[in-house]
Amino acid sequence: MLRTMSTAPDTVPASAPEARAELLAFAGRPVDARPDLLGLERDALAAVLDGIGLPAFRTGQIWHWLYHRGATDFQTMTTLAKPLRARLAETFRISRPSVVTRQDSIDGTIKWLLRFADGNEAEAVFIPEEDRGTLCVSSQVGCTLTCSFCHTGTQRLVRNLTSAEIVGQVMVALDHLGAYPTGGPNRPLTNIVLMGMGEPLYNFDNVASAMRIIMDGEGVALSKRRITLSTSGVVPMMAQCGADLGVNLAISLHATTDTVRDDLVPINRKWPIAELLDACRRYPGLNNARRITFEYVMLAGVNDAPADARRLVALIEGIPAKINLIPFNPWPGSKYVCSDPDTIERFAQIVLAAGYASPVRTPRGRDILAACGQLKSESAKLTRREARSVAAE
Ligand code: SAH
Ligand code: SF4
Repeated sequence: MLRTMSTAPDTVPASAPEARAELLAFAGRPVDARPDLLGLERDALAAVLDGIGLPAFRTGQIWHWLYHRGATDFQTMTTLAKPLRARLAETFRISRPSVVTRQDSIDGTIKWLLRFADGNEAEAVFIPEEDRGTLCVSSQVGCTLTCSFCHTGTQRLVRNLTSAEIVGQVMVALDHLGAYPTGGPNRPLTNIVLMGMGEPLYNFDNVASAMRIIMDGEGVALSKRRITLSTSGVVPMMAQCGADLGVNLAISLHATTDTVRDDLVPINRKWPIAELLDACRRYPGLNNARRITFEYVMLAGVNDAPADARRLVALIEGIPAKINLIPFNPWPGSKYVCSDPDTIERFAQIVLAAGYASPVRTPRGRDILAACGQLKSESAKLTRREARSVAAE
């Protein structure tokens, strides 16, 4: 069952003509030229505030309002004198992506289609579980890569998301979940996974900046242990990710031979399995309490034989690891079929017998196309000619 909610003030109905009318109205909207405070790391925020003559202590105060309290209106910043609030509002803005649609799955999963200032769209998904609440965040609109089982892979890369747009996804979720002040006990959002649309290591600077903001102890305050970055295998960026952010790493492995992986995850042609696993072995801070997650999508007749399971455990030997078996989630036009439950079980048993926990990921939000690999937005890359004509308007 699919339920479209319209709880957010800026939510629009999802029917095609209305959505189109909304898009057209959006395109004609005046652009807010005030610089955005969202998405600036602390030192950058301090610099812009210094630029209008504010003393250093204001940075901490404003940071608290932005990320601990979720303020989007300077007038609500009651620890600042009224004239200062007015001055800030004249000079700056605090952005949020607008919510085009919010869909609530029968299993509690929430998917937001979000639109950014230039009209591009991406999705974020909140997955509540008994002991945690995980937000799956997008790092790009579309993806440059073309993994053959992934819906996002059918959408060309439109562009990287900015730090403000990545942080903005988290803020929208916190707004909707009523999760301010942040950082307290029993909070609904406890984990972040960079497993939405896009390859985070191909947009590392913005992803890193956004994650540093989210990890800041005086704001959203999610620890690096609660953040997981998933990569298809951008080997040269993995060490930097570990050194700069120290977040958990997940690797989209999905195959145990280069021939099969070349086909499923084409980045393998550039950085084959052996190089990828070498980079995993060098990932800083690994130990039994802190393991790499290997993601493995179960595709009937492609990568799900007992021999694959045995090769898998041999390949990752010596790496502190978890294995996550993901039932393939179909999408319109996909050419694969999910392995049947017995095959998945047999695969899981071989992995388990080798000493690895191998939870089979329960698909969440399938009814609203919110499960792994089902995210896709309608944003299309403009042709050069279209881009010129938009710029000329
Ligand atoms: N680009 C990054 C992160 C986003 S994808 C990456 O590839 O790792 C998040 C996870 O979902 C990846 O492991 C991806 O391979 C997997 N996935 C993609 N399409 C899927 C599908 N249709 N069914 C199940 N998992 C899928
Ligand atoms: Fe891109 Fe990841 Fe999908 Fe591959 S699986 S196309 S890297 S989003």
